[in-house]
Amino acid sequence: MEALLKTVKVDARDNVAILTRDLPKGTLVENDVLLWEDIPQSHKVALEDIPANGKIIRYHVLLGYAKTAIKKGQWINEDLLILPKAPSLNQLRPGNHVKRRDLPPLPRTTFEGYRNSKNEFAGTRNILAIHTTVQCVVGVLNVAVRKIRKEILPRYPHVDDVMVVNHAYGCGVAINAPDAKIPIRALHHLLEHPNFGGEVMVVALGCEKLRPEMMMGPELINSENLIVLQDFGGFQEMLAAICAMAEKKLTKLNERRRETLPLSQLLVGMQCGGSDAFSGVTANPSAGFASDLLVAAGATVMFSEVTEVRDGVELLADRITSAPVCDKLVSEMRWYDQYLDNGKVDRSANPTPGNKKGGLSTIVEKAMGSIAKSGTSEIVEVLSPGEIPTKHGLIYAATPASDFVCGTMQMCSGAAVQVFVTGRGTPYGLQALPVIKLCTRSDLKQHWDDIIDIDAGAILTGEKTLAEMGVDVFNYIVDVASGTKKPFTETYHIYNDVCVFNPAPIT
Ligand code: CA
Repeated sequence: MEALLKTVKVDARDNVAILTRDLPKGTLVENDVLLWEDIPQSHKVALEDIPANGKIIRYHVLLGYAKTAIKKGQWINEDLLILPKAPSLNQLRPGNHVKRRDLPPLPRTTFEGYRNSKNEFAGTRNILAIHTTVQCVVGVLNVAVRKIRKEILPRYPHVDDVMVVNHAYGCGVAINAPDAKIPIRALHHLLEHPNFGGEVMVVALGCEKLRPEMMMGPELINSENLIVLQDFGGFQEMLAAICAMAEKKLTKLNERRRETLPLSQLLVGMQCGGSDAFSGVTANPSAGFASDLLVAAGATVMFSEVTEVRDGVELLADRITSAPVCDKLVSEMRWYDQYLDNGKVDRSANPTPGNKKGGLSTIVEKAMGSIAKSGTSEIVEVLSPGEIPTKHGLIYAATPASDFVCGTMQMCSGAAVQVFVTGRGTPYGLQALPVIKLCTRSDLKQHWDDIIDIDAGAILTGEKTLAEMGVDVFNYIVDVASGTKKPFTETYHIYNDVCVFNPAPIT
């Protein structure tokens, strides 16, 4: 019974804790706190009386100011907090030194991947991607891909899948707007994704604004790699041309084999979605521990989601030692502040209703959980949306926090496997790369047993330490990258669309 009354206090100086389960009014929990009202699982309880305008502290960080006086034992939901100002970007300086946590011996330093000749990152899957310049061609391509999958792909057993890069960009867009460079760069870089093996196949319409030469190098623009639908006499001719080109590409991809490669050729993306107040206690720190192990083993790890790190930007700067890298962090944050400002919103548009139901009261609280998944390593590079890393190690890739947009942009930056941390639960997946689901609490794993891959709730119950869970996550990532394990989204083909970030106007 004692365990049921436990609360989770992240830092000894916090004046709130979260409940590990729903508890009724009148329950006595740890620290001699009598619950003043019914409080749901993962929500915060006040550990002391807090006066009006008093600070509400979790992670030893200011989550917000109390709107009214709060009694010890009272439920602190989002209605009781006033959001503090975002940290200023003017004073950000790189940290002097970065102390990565002590790590256990590295379980592995290699994986089984597909080497790429032109790309320093290796593939984790062997996929024929059919790229598109515009959404107009996708209907035809969907028919073609059904035919390819049924009639052609079975003859090429070493190829895992065939996919359409189905995105909404390409026409009806202000193609010369300054911010159009973001979606164009992203789609251009996607041609080089490590899981696509350097085989380029692009289907265009013929009159779109995103012309093939804006996406592909001039050396690639020929009948070997590009099909323009308006050049063909009707649907059946288009279909035949697409199938014929696909077959040629499949012949080449079918020659690829996995080989033992150093982890320095692995690029891992980390993101979270549907977070709850346990995210910063169980799953995100486990992902962070795995990230530290990966980086120590030579791998490259990306984390993203600007609005979810904005409130902890000083913590990021502390983990940067290079002034130009810190400057780039500032410029990405400033760009996003302006982007939100242009839309007449601010960062309080995040957290989501689901986050709030999961006990996250403010974006500051969400940020503290979100940043935990980056571990403790030095941040060696900051990327604009859709850029490809030029360094190995921990990388901050600036993207929106929206799951499928962040996922897509990490994919465009070359992530060959992704870890997705969730507290509320989402079935999100990507076709181009395996997505591993890591959940914050065991009841979600029980509820979604065939969607969630790893349950970090074992930390809460005391079954596993953070280090043990971190090693489990590390091993799972390397197994999935090596093709010896499949996450559920891949087993069941649960795939979202390619949602490229487009901050430019649509006309
Ligand atoms: Ca997200």
